[in-house]
Amino acid sequence: NSNEMKVEFASNSLNEAFARVAVSAFLSQLDPTVDELYDVKMAVSEAVTNSIIHGYNADPNQLIWIKCTYEGRMVTIQVIDKGKGIKDVDEAMKALYTTSEDDERAGLGFTVMQSMMDQVQVDSEEGKGTCVTMTK
Ligand code: ATP
Ligand code: MG
Repeated sequence: NSNEMKVEFASNSLNEAFARVAVSAFLSQLDPTVDELYDVKMAVSEAVTNSIIHGYNADPNQLIWIKCTYEGRMVTIQVIDKGKGIKDVDEAMKALYTTSEDDERAGLGFTVMQSMMDQVQVDSEEGKGTCVTMTK
């Protein structure tokens, strides 16, 4: 019982909703609970928003990829951008850490991902991009 999918979409903020729906449509094959689906959607939203806002500085014409696989009931989701990357991943993942001056950003995106998913790993290189791998 394993399966995988990959989607590519523009870094347009309209696609945050698309990304959530695409992942949940795929994972509905596993008959998830409403709570499980909610958690995954929240985590995907945070990661995609980060790619758009931080990775690509809100340029809507770049590309984001989501890879999603499951094996049994173990789900792995990767959100990948080729944006500006993160200098210090450990620091970026700390609660309340943000590089944004926008009052709407609380610096809690990674904290939300970690609380919604069992494991969150961030691989990033400055100038190359970021890959967030989440498992549940
Ligand atoms: P919030 O998510 O609460 O709105 P935030 O996005 O600043 O605020 P996090 O999601 O925790 O907080 O991200 C922390 C910091 O990590 C960001 O401020 C940004 O500097 C950096 N970051 C996160 N994702 C990316 C990415 N895909 N590309 C480049 N930088 C990123
Ligand atoms: Mg964020």
